[in-house]
Amino acid sequence: MDDDDVWEEDEDDDGYVSCQYCGEPMYEESGYCSSCERWQTREDRPQKTLPVWVMLTALCLLAIFVYGALRSF
Ligand SMILES: [Zn+2]
Repeated sequence: MDDDDVWEEDEDDDGYVSCQYCGEPMYEESGYCSSCERWQTREDRPQKTLPVWVMLTALCLLAIFVYGALRSF
């Protein structure tokens, strides 16, 4: 296991990527550069709105729950 000091643009390099703002190496997993404290513009960025599939799943569960509750009467 050699530690490679050369940071490349390749995003699949050991899970590390170069920050697109300051160029410092950072974990691709985190999506967050601790050097310049900026989020990378990717899906990792925290979103204020929930993803669509979360909303749909929640709606489906709610619908099933309400349907079941109504049927129990
Ligand atoms: Zn940075």
